[in-house]
Amino acid sequence: MSDYKINTKCVQGGYTPANGEPRQIPIVQSTTFRYETSEAMGRLFDLEDSGYFYTRLQNPTNDMVAAKLADMEGGTAAMLTSSGQAANFFALFNICECGSHIVASSSIYGGTFNLISVTMAKMGIDVTFVSPTATEEELDAAFRDNTRAMFGETIANPALTVLDIELFAKVAHKHGVPLIVDNTFPTPVNCRPIEWGADIVTHSTTKYMDGHGVAVGGAIIDSGNFDWMAHADKYPGLCTPDDSYHGITYAEKFGQGGAFITKATAQLMRDFGSIQSPQHAFYLNMGLESLHVRMQRHVENGQAVAEFLEAHPAVESVSYSGLPSDPYYEVAQKYLPNGGCGVVSFVVKGGRPAAEKFMKELKLAAIETHVADARTCCLNPATSTHRQMTDEQLEEAGIPAGLVRMSCGLEDKEDLIADLKQALDVL
Ligand SMILES: *Cc1c(COP(=O)(O)O)cnc(C)c1O
Repeated sequence: MSDYKINTKCVQGGYTPANGEPRQIPIVQSTTFRYETSEAMGRLFDLEDSGYFYTRLQNPTNDMVAAKLADMEGGTAAMLTSSGQAANFFALFNICECGSHIVASSSIYGGTFNLISVTMAKMGIDVTFVSPTATEEELDAAFRDNTRAMFGETIANPALTVLDIELFAKVAHKHGVPLIVDNTFPTPVNCRPIEWGADIVTHSTTKYMDGHGVAVGGAIIDSGNFDWMAHADKYPGLCTPDDSYHGITYAEKFGQGGAFITKATAQLMRDFGSIQSPQHAFYLNMGLESLHVRMQRHVENGQAVAEFLEAHPAVESVSYSGLPSDPYYEVAQKYLPNGGCGVVSFVVKGGRPAAEKFMKELKLAAIETHVADARTCCLNPATSTHRQMTDEQLEEAGIPAGLVRMSCGLEDKEDLIADLKQALDVL
């Protein structure tokens, strides 16, 4: 499908049934696969033949959906994981080990921040956080001899900063390491980081890709552009024989386009077992079939809501990269010319009590920690997820007490604005 436009890939990528085969992707609800001889199965274990033997490693339904995602992002190979957390962990741990160092944007999802700064630190992997607006010199200064990966989010959740992908990729490559970009919020419909130099793309498919709030999942896509063998000293796991897998050297046997995903499957999925269930992969594919249509509406609603909020006297400030007043407007025009996503954040005047009152008044927008599905939802961190923090601590963390994160769904924008208006007017 690689010559088709993104909209066509959303609908038909990854699976082309042969004569008389099912039109929709079959859910292969089977943990195991039958073979006629031990030798035939042995060849699969040796990675000599491709095929299926156990769903913890690979499953045909998952592979069809992964192939669609590779096609949509413009990559050479992809894999599904049980969650976005697993995808980011696998993407990093596939090339980092005890003694490695990561350079990461400080403006990333809280779960990923914790994964890198707390859990991976326990594994002996260090991190230096950099500002998403850092200059080339500042980014350069963060690198060390043992740096093995650079990481950022196209549109950060929840800060809504927009990454200068081209600059981050340039600096990563100057230091001989790949750039990994979490592209969850814009999805490949609105931005394809590989086209700007990213090497590996990750997703929480739980968000817009699923889009209906039904299945937690993740994905990793490899661009096939990073030359591991040219940096063999940094990536022995890809460039020297794997004793735990019959002495295979991934970068030699599977080439630049296949090494990363094959290693992540053969080693990490084998050992950590974070596979997406075939049933979830099927739900994910249902979401992907309409992703391009839905993203357009999420953006339209996000833009309309952001513009309404910016003009309302009870609102102190609005963050949305589609607003000309937003500090990320320029960079968004470059990377997100069709808009970014439907998530808007804003600060109501009057702090915690005003935010609490506002949230109570909402009728259409539900209170949820989730974002990015068909139904509009809102969160005020100060009175829910971050309620143990004082106003001062919140301010320091860049989360003012009056901050509300709103994920605009697919409802009519006039209804969403009317809901916001009646709740704000009470303030
Ligand atoms: C939600 C999210 C994650 C984590 O994904 P899960 O599917 O919840 O594990 C990672 N990155 C971003 C940008 C997210 O929004």
